[in-house]
Amino acid sequence: MLPQGLMDALLNAERIVALTGAGISAESGIPTFRGSGGLWEGYPVEKVATVEGFERDPELVWRFYDERRRNIAAAKPNDAHIVLAKMERLYDFWVITQNIDGLHQKAGSRNVVELHGNIWRVRCTECGRVGYNYEVPLKEIPPRCEKCGGLLRPDVVWFGEPVYDIDKAYSLAENCDVMLVIGTSAQVYPAAYLPRLAWSRNAKIVEINPQETPVSRYADFIMRKMATEAMNEIYQELLRASQEERE
Ligand code: NAD
Ligand code: ZN
Repeated sequence: MLPQGLMDALLNAERIVALTGAGISAESGIPTFRGSGGLWEGYPVEKVATVEGFERDPELVWRFYDERRRNIAAAKPNDAHIVLAKMERLYDFWVITQNIDGLHQKAGSRNVVELHGNIWRVRCTECGRVGYNYEVPLKEIPPRCEKCGGLLRPDVVWFGEPVYDIDKAYSLAENCDVMLVIGTSAQVYPAAYLPRLAWSRNAKIVEINPQETPVSRYADFIMRKMATEAMNEIYQELLRASQEERE
C-alpha cells in the first residue's frame, strides 16, 4: 500500500525529479559509507576523499578508487534504477544523483545530473584534460595523462570541492511537482538542500529510505522501505492507474 495521497500527487505531476544517494545502489552491491564511523570500506574518508589526502598519497587514493571501480564494474542496475529510467517515458523526468557509479545511465536514464562526478572519468592535475578510463584493474597506479604525463585524479567531487551542475540542480528543484528522495542520508551539502528548496516551492516530497533523515521532518510522504521495493510498488500503481484511465 502506498501512503495515502501519493498516487494523486504522482498522477497530477508534470515534472518529477528524483534525488538519489548511495542507498539506491546498495541493493546492487555497492556499499554506502555513512554509519560506519567515518570509514569508507575501511579507509578514513579524509584520506581518500579530499584534495589534501590525494596530494599526500595519490597511490593510496588510487588504490582505493581502483577497488571501488572493480566493485562498480561488476554491479548491475537494480529495479529502483530501472523504474526511474522507465519513468522518463511517463513524465518530464530528471535524476539528480550524488552517486558516481553511473548505474542510472546503465539502467537507461538519459536526464541525469551527476553532482559528484563519475568514477570512470579522470582529470589531469597538470593540464586539466578530462577523459574516460574504463581499465579494471588500472594498468598503472597512479595513472598519468596521455598528453602531458601529469598525475591524473578521479573526476569526482571530494569534500570541500564545489559540486558539478548545481545551477541545473537548483532550477530543477525549484520547478518540479514531485521530488523523490531515495537512499540519501541528506547530510552532504549542497545536495541535501535540494529537497528543502523543492518543498519551499510547493513540490510534494517523497522520502524513500529505511532510516529517518533530516528530510523526514518535512516530507509529505514517507516510505520506510528499500528502494527497489518502494519503486516497484510505485511503478505498479502507476501502471494500474494508467490502465484504468484508458478503460
Ligand atoms: P550515505 O551513504 O550517506 O547514505 C545512504 C542512505 O541510504 C542512508 O540514509 C541509508 O539509510 C539509505 N539506504 C541504505 N540502503 C538503502 C536501500 N536499499 N534503499 C533505500 N535507502 C537505503 O549516502 P549519500 O547521502 O549518497 O552520501 C554519500 C556520499 O558518498 C555521496 O556524496 C556519494 O558521492 C558518495 N558515495 C557514492 C556511492 C555510489 O556512487 N554508489 C557509494 C558510496 C558513497
Ligand atoms: Zn595532462
